[in-house]
This record gives sequence, C-alpha cells and structure tokens, in this order.
Amino acid sequence: MLTRRERIAELLERTEYPLTAEEICQLLDIEKRSIVYDDIDHISKSVKREAKELLVRPASCGRCQFIFKVRKSAKAPGKCPKCKSQWILAPAFIIRPRK
Ligand SMILES: [Zn+2]
Repeated sequence: MLTRRERIAELLERTEYPLTAEEICQLLDIEKRSIVYDDIDHISKSVKREAKELLVRPASCGRCQFIFKVRKSAKAPGKCPKCKSQWILAPAFIIRPRK
C-alpha cells in the first residue's frame, strides 16, 4: 500500500502532461488542494535523491496573462500583482528523470 504522497509522486511520473492540484485531487480522491500542495513541496525535495525532478508549469493570470515566478512553495498565488485579478490559472506539475 502506497502512502498518499507516494501515490501523488507515482501519478506525476506516469502522466503525459502536467497536472494541477485540482486534477490530482480528483484523480486520487483527495479532499483538499492544500494537502496536495503540501505533499508536492515534500515530493520536490525527495525526487532529487532519485535523479528525477519536479517540473512546474507556473501559475498565470487569466486576465492579463502575467506569468508568476515559480516559488518555493507549490501553492497557487491568490491574485495577480499586475492587474489585481483573482482569475488565476493554477500551476501544474510533472516529474521527469533529471538530465
Ligand atoms: Zn493579471
């Protein structure tokens, strides 16, 4: 039996395209996105020991297309610093072997 964190890591290794926290919640039947973001923070560190890396498609603003910098925490930002819109397209994650 895999732990929740291991199931998320496995899903991100098998997926063909980056997944958002919301998609991960739906696929693995996890209650809250905050749990997934917290797990991803840990996974991003642990995969480094396995010669893999967590790649992030950064969050962006749905209104002005501002691209957020990839931050230390996986969590999605709340609002756009440029136009103040709260229409934020969530970051997405995928794990690939490190080159
Ligand atoms: Zn914006």
